[in-house]
Amino acid sequence: MAEELNPFKIAQEQLDKAASIMKLDRQALAILREPRRTLIVNLPVRMDNGTVRTFTGFRVQYNDARGPAKGGIRFHPEETLDTVKALSAWMTWKCSLADIPFGGGKGGIICDPKKLSQSETERLSRAYIRAIAEFIGPDKDIPAPDVYTTPQIMAWMMDEYSTIKGSNQFATITGKPVEVWGSKGRMDSTAKGGMFVMREAAKAMKINLKTAHIAVQGFGNAGMYAYTLSKSMFGSKVVAISDSQGGIYDPDGLDLEKLEDAKKRTGSVQGYRSKNAKKVTNDELLELNVDILIPAAIENQIRKDNADRIKAKLVLELANGPVTPDATSVLFEKGIVDLPDFLVNSGGVIGSYFEWVQNINQYYWPTDRFYAELDKIISKSFSDTMAMQKSYKDKGVKISPRNAAYIIAVDRVAKAMKARGWY
Ligand code: NAD
Repeated sequence: MAEELNPFKIAQEQLDKAASIMKLDRQALAILREPRRTLIVNLPVRMDNGTVRTFTGFRVQYNDARGPAKGGIRFHPEETLDTVKALSAWMTWKCSLADIPFGGGKGGIICDPKKLSQSETERLSRAYIRAIAEFIGPDKDIPAPDVYTTPQIMAWMMDEYSTIKGSNQFATITGKPVEVWGSKGRMDSTAKGGMFVMREAAKAMKINLKTAHIAVQGFGNAGMYAYTLSKSMFGSKVVAISDSQGGIYDPDGLDLEKLEDAKKRTGSVQGYRSKNAKKVTNDELLELNVDILIPAAIENQIRKDNADRIKAKLVLELANGPVTPDATSVLFEKGIVDLPDFLVNSGGVIGSYFEWVQNINQYYWPTDRFYAELDKIISKSFSDTMAMQKSYKDKGVKISPRNAAYIIAVDRVAKAMKARGWY
């Protein structure tokens, strides 16, 4: 089904495309096509049965011209260096577009977290921090949670780093539990940010969110909060949602209690029962006749082979990389507004930025301040993107929101590198 998709090639392709539109200096492009620093570490970990197993970990610091590298750590059995490199590039553009003082980074460990006990996970997390300790820190590189890593894992990592340094180092890791100075509001900040973008886009596109029909792919942190917040913030009707086993569609709208019950009883949202509900596959969910589609699960879901069948007016990329480059062009030609991941899901890293700021200042904000500041930053990213798209349109060049956002982000990083004398 899917095209051959190497995530880092995709990231480079997207950058090349933006660079050619904006006529980026070739020396700047050469620097930006590769990460500044790539670490591969071997992690010997004592398992519960007494044997020692060696895991491979990565940390990539893609660019730090505008501030310390910033990005999550993934625990995944199929983790690859190219995935981590791509994600670290996307973090660079995400932080730059949000105009927060961070560069981009990402980390990962090849492991199956479902097969590790809690104490093995703790030892693996601590081993990883020992291996990369001299390369991270609040002014160098600030890790955070990502796929299969949790606030608890961040707490262990922060603790290990503090032990190495001999003093508390709360500002080195974000996404911590609030007990060790994680930020209030961080938990749902990715989806909340996505909702602020959805509100602004709906305003611009004259979509009435009160009557809009929405389909969400994924029922994890991003998807579940996108579902609940669409309803609580705007009163929208979420008619479809899915998890890895498939989805459920009910034109009357889905009920949270029933969804949670289905998940508990059957392990999947497909166990949802109501008069008009019917099961759909994950591919069918994408093609439903809805106003807004929110891919919030995994990458490469809207591809060349199905992009033509997407009916939503607005695609809100809450997941990372859910739309392939070929599909981006198809959606654009069809007049579908496809808002890119590094705009839509930047609420997560903006929330991490707030946590870092609070840790450094040792002054903690109430939740309503967190959301208000998030709204301000992410709504500006959206309006900057629209303004950039319009500025090209006025010159007679039609560009997608993704390219507009890329141009803003790349331009800021290139200018910082230029000011620092890197080229
Ligand atoms: P999660 O692990 O909490 O949830 C993932 C969801 O996707 C689960 O419901 C899972 O069942 C579903 N899923 C897995 N495989 C699927 C498939 N083949 N088809 C459909 N659904 C499938 O993860 P999350 O934190 O919600 O992250 C989801 C996406 O959002 C990822 O791309 C992630 O990188 C991105 N993201 C998340 C955050 C955050 O703060 N959580 C921040 C930025 C980006």
